[in-house]
Amino acid sequence: IYSVFTLGDALITFNPSETGPLRYVPNFTRKVGGAELNFAIGCARLGLHSKWASRLGGDEFGRVIYNFARGEGVDMADVKFVEGYPTSLNFKEIREDGSGKTFYYRYQSPILTMEPSDITAQMFEGIHIIHLTGVFLAIDPKNLAITKRVLEIAEQLNIRVSFDPNIRLKLWTIEQAKAAYMEILPSVDILLTGLDEIQLIIGDASKGALEKCAADFSISQLVIKDGSNGARVFVEGEWYEKEAFSVTPIDTVGAGDGFDAGYIYSVLHGYSPEASLEFANGVGALVTTVSGDNEGLPYLKEVQSLIRKEAVIER
Ligand code: ATP
Repeated sequence: IYSVFTLGDALITFNPSETGPLRYVPNFTRKVGGAELNFAIGCARLGLHSKWASRLGGDEFGRVIYNFARGEGVDMADVKFVEGYPTSLNFKEIREDGSGKTFYYRYQSPILTMEPSDITAQMFEGIHIIHLTGVFLAIDPKNLAITKRVLEIAEQLNIRVSFDPNIRLKLWTIEQAKAAYMEILPSVDILLTGLDEIQLIIGDASKGALEKCAADFSISQLVIKDGSNGARVFVEGEWYEKEAFSVTPIDTVGAGDGFDAGYIYSVLHGYSPEASLEFANGVGALVTTVSGDNEGLPYLKEVQSLIRKEAVIER
């Protein structure tokens, strides 16, 4: 059984009871969100040993997140409660076409109490891949130092690093994001990015520009996620491409995190580039069919059934 490590903030998400502009929505359902936690849950559901490092508010909502993640089988050894820092919230808006918007109520997130010195080699015992995202970097400028500490240990312990820029322009500017990414990318082995994201970061998403990016930062696998168009990867000088699965999307948020979990699962299990894309597309597609950021993350058998086009016996 392979082990993955990720690091990031989680929050309580309030999902609207109906579609349309948030100002007209009177009722919400309380859920748990956070890109890195979604990834961790996705990995756990696929059967990986999945460790998530974080800080939670010492409040009722902190407990909700803790119990939820633990219930999903996530390794919580590096999660601590912090008094005096309320758990962050976000309210979601979902439009009739399934697209989403996020309104954050995240001021002094509990994760801001984390320091580079909290990151120790011991946390990475038995870990095969470390997955980092730009959300953690965006929350606070100090998180770059924490991330660099993780990368330093990854290098010492020879652990592969995957990175999803996960640009959140509500949290920082594109200039700030780019500056941080440029410091991270030289340590990244597997880059998992949206097509529009990489366009924002390097200003050109043509094959030539992407190949140059992979060479400049010695990225061994550059994976481009492209929503309902599927995904492609540049690996060892070759491009591979796989179309998306045909599904009826209900809520696309979290598809990218699920895709990342699926891709990392595939890499750890030695899948070919095409099989990895297919598997990750399967996870991403299944996530979109369920409302919520992580509820739709599939179990291994569900992805396999989708790929093999097996009929699911319901009763
Ligand atoms: P986010 O960060 O909002 O979760 P992202 O930009 O990282 O998203 P997307 O490209 O939107 O990621 O989606 C990730 C993957 O999920 C796609 O590459 C595809 O495999 C799958 N996917 C997303 N939307 C659809 C869809 N409508 N139909 C089928 N598959 C989809």
